[in-house]
Amino acid sequence: MALVNEHFLKLPDNYLFADIAKKVNAFKATHPHADVISLGIGDVTRPLCPAVVEAMHRATDEMAAGATFRGYGPEQGYGFLREAILKNDFLPRGIHLDTNEIFINDGAKSDTGNIQELVRWDNSIGVTDPIYPVYIDSNVMIGRAGLKGDDGKWSNVVYMPCTAGNNFVPQLPDRRVDIIYLCYPNNPTGTVLPKDELKKWVNYALKNDTLIFFDAAYEAYIQSPGIPHSIYEIKGARKVAVEFHSYSKTAGFTGIRCGYTVVPKELTAAALDGERIPLNPLWNRRQCTKFNGTSYISQRAAEATYTPEGKAQVKEAVDYYMRNAGTIRATLRSLGLDVYGGVDAPYLWVKTPGGMGSWRFFEQMLYDAHVVCTPGVGFGPSGEGYVRLTAFGSEDDCAEAMARITKWLR
Ligand SMILES: *Cc1c(COP(=O)(O)O)cnc(C)c1O
Repeated sequence: MALVNEHFLKLPDNYLFADIAKKVNAFKATHPHADVISLGIGDVTRPLCPAVVEAMHRATDEMAAGATFRGYGPEQGYGFLREAILKNDFLPRGIHLDTNEIFINDGAKSDTGNIQELVRWDNSIGVTDPIYPVYIDSNVMIGRAGLKGDDGKWSNVVYMPCTAGNNFVPQLPDRRVDIIYLCYPNNPTGTVLPKDELKKWVNYALKNDTLIFFDAAYEAYIQSPGIPHSIYEIKGARKVAVEFHSYSKTAGFTGIRCGYTVVPKELTAAALDGERIPLNPLWNRRQCTKFNGTSYISQRAAEATYTPEGKAQVKEAVDYYMRNAGTIRATLRSLGLDVYGGVDAPYLWVKTPGGMGSWRFFEQMLYDAHVVCTPGVGFGPSGEGYVRLTAFGSEDDCAEAMARITKWLR
């Protein structure tokens, strides 16, 4: 008899986006002429930039000719991309890494979910709340999160609330935690951590022998000076942190699939006898066993984002979304709403007026303004009383949505 991994049975079905779709469809069925605009999407909409498209065409032509065809590539990724990453994402920030510390992935979701394989099942984990669900769910699957309580919290997870009350700056836990997940710029709140705040986390990790898994998927959206683009800008971070990057939101690669994970050589975890075990060779071993590399064409596409044309074109798309974010932020603020994020991230986190529940606000906005948002409570208990809006739509839709919301709330 094959026994199932019962930890999977503890996972709630991922109802959030299905529930939203159900409610939107019910509305459309009863209002067939309404033109619904979604500010709920967490996916990019701008097409790939020309530099990337040209690189992909060239790579395809190489694959089509016997002399230049490529089969399996290195599990860790091609040297050309790892070098380009070093030279463009780290050296200009004074971060000196070795190419062997960079592992090309097929998107940050895989590695943020897989990295927990390197540590024992009985480590404790800490997350900011609200949170990107992958971090907790991947730990539930292996039995590390414990059991889910009636309050919606897992018994072996330490929650660090991020709300207007603490200006979305999470407090250090009052006890030691083995592993902490941080995502900055943050999805869903769109907020960032200034350098001195991130430094507190690195120092906490150094002092408590804690591992930090740092998700930098939205790094390209940072506009403000003084906001770290990488946790390795902070002294000591290489001893405690793994960092995840993705070209998905940076360059519209959600359908292409490419990103990278940094596992520094100095990073270690303890064996039961106290011996320090470097995680870089462990991750390398894991990848060589379970991963056969990101496609050559995707890696050439990623490389093209670092050419002068590529950089300018990628920035153009980011600027496009950030203009939408600025429009949403200014409009909602002028209506008297408390709006967070949207300055260094494509997400806006809006407090519902009068303490209204997330779902109730969602429904009212859908029925009265025909605009879709994402109820904040779907991202964790501290998300109740907030909704998330995204800047990933078209400029016209964004302007029209703001006009409708203005009319509705006035
Ligand atoms: C979109 C997103 C990612 C990137 O996922 P990919 O697998 O690279 O497409 C990673 N982390 C967060 C928080 C995200 O929102």
